[in-house]
Amino acid sequence: MIKCISCGQEYNLNEIIYTCKECGSILEVIINPDVSRDVFACRKNTMWKYKEFMPVDESRIVSLEEGGTPFIGCHKLGSDLGIDLYVKVEGSNPTGSFKDRGMSVGITKAMELGVDTVGCASTGNTSASLAAYAARAGVKCVVLLPSGKVALGKLAQAMFHGAQVLSVEGNFDEALEAVTALALEGELYLLNSINPFRLEGQKSIGFEIVDDLGWESPDRIILPVGNAGNISAIWKGINEFYQADFIKERPMMTGIQAEGACPIVNAVRDNRMEIEAVKNPETVATAIRIGAPVSSLKALRAIYESDGCADTVSDEEILSAQKMLARTEGIGVEPASAASIAGLIKLVEDGVIDKGEQVVCIVTGHVLKDPDTAINACSEPLNVKADINDLRKVIRSR
Ligand SMILES: *Cc1c(COP(=O)(O)O)cnc(C)c1O
Ligand SMILES: [Zn+2]
Repeated sequence: MIKCISCGQEYNLNEIIYTCKECGSILEVIINPDVSRDVFACRKNTMWKYKEFMPVDESRIVSLEEGGTPFIGCHKLGSDLGIDLYVKVEGSNPTGSFKDRGMSVGITKAMELGVDTVGCASTGNTSASLAAYAARAGVKCVVLLPSGKVALGKLAQAMFHGAQVLSVEGNFDEALEAVTALALEGELYLLNSINPFRLEGQKSIGFEIVDDLGWESPDRIILPVGNAGNISAIWKGINEFYQADFIKERPMMTGIQAEGACPIVNAVRDNRMEIEAVKNPETVATAIRIGAPVSSLKALRAIYESDGCADTVSDEEILSAQKMLARTEGIGVEPASAASIAGLIKLVEDGVIDKGEQVVCIVTGHVLKDPDTAINACSEPLNVKADINDLRKVIRSR
């Protein structure tokens, strides 16, 4: 069933509904699988390994084999910081971000419902992912993007997979409001993360982390927070495995936002359950340039219930962490993803993270999503003649 997270009102799984009719709050999907964790071991390494936990008909799954992403021990960086560090590389998903997990479930649900048009507002990655999964399923796809604010790689993907791409004057929050109104009129099926089926796919990040650690929980999971769906989803996944008795402990959920777009962090600082929207959100990390996160209530519950925390990082800290991760560990991520690493560094320096903690940072999207930012962070290639004497001299000078 689908259930309101505030008043508990229940709805049928096949009702097209995005917010509670009784109180207007957001919804979640409730499932009660009865399965032993031993069944997962022999299955292919995608998020559908945990299909019993996915609330869709397994005979018609729309998939590009998302999930099963690398879980990389970062011992150089970890030992510098005095912690045991792992990075979950979500840029290795089919379209280069974790959004693919949510879209696989979301589009599968759309096909079950028999809709013919799907849509979303997006800072970029949601549209890139939706365009690809809609193409695979053969349904019409409409995406609304804030004009001039979408990174080049994401725009290329949305257009190339054949979505109808609409550049909207205004920011993400305004585009989301518009596309939600269209969805409520029945013009399209909305696949932003207010749709609770999206989060059902994304919760598999939580499943994979504890599976990768041999059915142990890390001490802490750190991730960037924009619309706040992902932190909510991962916490939901962790809790489902905890309730199934697959794990005995749960991690502290730690959300990082950019200084110019930090409504969740502001709420945590005042110990509030409600956010105050940030009017003109601004950050180089366009994927988290969001002033009014739709899933804020779920995210705040995740942070408080897990004894976690939230903090901000500056654009400068984000770009420096992005470059450092690329150069010390060989992992290329987009700016928003590096917010988790920048946040980690800050929280270790501030003594919030203890020495010896086992920490998992989620890096959410691939470096090639935003090639302009990557190129701007580097000096231009040297022009050299194809002459080995010249080449040798230049190589030795560095
Ligand atoms: C969507 C996205 C985020 C933010 O996730 P939310 O669920 O909106 O909090 C962070 N990083 C990247 C790369 C994203 O695409
Ligand atoms: Zn309600």
